[in-house]
Amino acid sequence: MSFEFRNLKRLGNSVSVSISPDENGYLGRECPEESCEGYFKIKPGTGLTGQDLPCICPYCGHKGPHNSFWTKAQVEYLHSLALRQVSDAIHKDLKQLEFDHKPRGAFGIGLSLKVKSGAPVPIRHYVEKELETHVTCDQCTLEYAVYGVFAYCPDCGAHNSLQILQKNLDLALKQLSLADTVTERDLKEHLTGDALENCVSTFDGFAREVCRIRAAKSTDPSQCESLSFQNLPRAAIRMQKLFGIDLASCVPPAEWQAAHIGFMRRHLLAHRAGVVDQQYLGETGEPPAHLGRKLVVSAAEVRTLAGVVLQIARHFISKLPAPNKSKALP
Ligand SMILES: [Zn+2]
Ligand SMILES: [Zn+2]
Repeated sequence: MSFEFRNLKRLGNSVSVSISPDENGYLGRECPEESCEGYFKIKPGTGLTGQDLPCICPYCGHKGPHNSFWTKAQVEYLHSLALRQVSDAIHKDLKQLEFDHKPRGAFGIGLSLKVKSGAPVPIRHYVEKELETHVTCDQCTLEYAVYGVFAYCPDCGAHNSLQILQKNLDLALKQLSLADTVTERDLKEHLTGDALENCVSTFDGFAREVCRIRAAKSTDPSQCESLSFQNLPRAAIRMQKLFGIDLASCVPPAEWQAAHIGFMRRHLLAHRAGVVDQQYLGETGEPPAHLGRKLVVSAAEVRTLAGVVLQIARHFISKLPAPNKSKALP
């Protein structure tokens, strides 16, 4: 007796299974680099178009073909789908072997073969994870989502540091608009002071990140892990030492000084309840009579500061070397 596994043969040498994006249109990805394995999501249909485009890890910059970025959960799901197809085909083929010969005559012997159905191979369903920051790349329009805030675009590789800074500065300006609508004086002052603090802290976060991803290009990579940009002249000295660039020359001297004063005012708001101290007078050159007075922050100075911060940031990036992301990136 010969038997053909027709259903199994029909599957051929490969089994075709596919992955669909989640309900918001995002597809999970996982960096194949052992030291990273970072999880992120991209929205297929946005970003660059073309055949066989590579994928770039937003965290470490590793670059490789898209089919090397499957998440572990997706791989398990695909394996289970493939196994199910194979086991179903084998089951169908074996079913054809069934027979049932009834006993004949008074002492006849009946023979039968019944293929019993076992439990089907379980499908390992999965759900894509929720992530913290959603970004639309301002270079290639790819929509992607990451843990944390800063990232390389998985399509074009552009780093989003400047984009995040701009977004946060816009939020600070919105705080000012909100302060405009408030009549209660304390709340108005609080919102305005908060907007000033946010301009400084967002620049600090931005500048730390742009140095961190370029650490290997600096004279002392370990220092790039613990920088602070809350005091501009001190930061300028460190940038000169680490990258050989003149941070202060990013803007004209008057604007640099205005930004320095703005940053010192943030220090008072954050650490001295907004009361002028000797260090502030020493840093800004304001008259001694201001000692012990409470700062009054105006919306106009915050708007100016936001503009100067953005200018410094743009020039800062243009002076720095390219990020040392990936060995694999162009
Ligand atoms: Zn990675
Ligand atoms: Zn992009």
